Amino acid sequence: MNDTVRELMRDKKRIVVKIGSSSLQHAETGDLDYTKLDVLVRELCDLRNRGKDVVLVTSGAIAVGKKAVMMGASMEDNPIAVKQACAAVGQARLMMTYQKIFAEYNQVAAQILMTKNTIVDNLNRFNAQNTFAELFKLGVIPIVNENDTIATYEIEIGDNDTLSAIVASLVEADALLLLSDIDGLYTDDPRQNPDAKYIEVVEELTDDLMNMGKASTGSAVGTGGMNTKLQAAKIASSMGIDMVIANSKDIKVIHRILDGKNIGTLFLAHRDEKFDLPLYVQQMHR
Ligand code: GLU
Repeated sequence: MNDTVRELMRDKKRIVVKIGSSSLQHAETGDLDYTKLDVLVRELCDLRNRGKDVVLVTSGAIAVGKKAVMMGASMEDNPIAVKQACAAVGQARLMMTYQKIFAEYNQVAAQILMTKNTIVDNLNRFNAQNTFAELFKLGVIPIVNENDTIATYEIEIGDNDTLSAIVASLVEADALLLLSDIDGLYTDDPRQNPDAKYIEVVEELTDDLMNMGKASTGSAVGTGGMNTKLQAAKIASSMGIDMVIANSKDIKVIHRILDGKNIGTLFLAHRDEKFDLPLYVQQMHR
């Protein structure tokens, strides 16, 4: 069963890849891991060269900005404004780095920053979809993040796992790859329970599975835990998109997964015709 469904990964044409802040930084210093970024960009450019449409959903704005201007200062005074100021600095820096590496591989990249409104508002959603469609036609790789600088509680999506599933839905992707600091889904938190069993394929997202998500990420950066990954799986699956969670310690898993190798946890799509993405996003709360 697993081998057969894995083979199908080879035929995926439009791919969304999500990478988290903790995967882009050196744990010891919080500075960007340029080697990893380089491999990530190379993998994505190679997918383009194979004729696939590619979207990158990247975190890191706040982490990079914090590193640039906070220099260890406290976030206590005005956490939201400080976080948003850090994002404003960091997003630009992050893009500068991405643009430079993409250019080395002769690949044009674009930036799209989103909030809840991008999905909930019909005109915004329509415009965003048109922009993505045009970028694909032009062979450009869109780089997406939440617009952290302006997103306050009412309009924030809150984590990039959910954002990436929303983006995959918006662009009608065939597959979503979530690269994280965990190998995949376990029956329990493997960092706490040595008996936790690894799950290769999730055929159906049952309520039991959904309840299993633990909120802890095991890292001090980024906002996603297993809970947000299961939420992302719910959106992706309902929208008819296969999703894989895999460990980002070796970024080359991207092409291996798309070559049909048995890596990470695969969540099989079950298109739910009744699933209403704008309504779902509108009702989402953190
Ligand atoms: N959008 C946030 C950032 O770029 C990260 C959110 C997340 O890691 O889930 O810093």
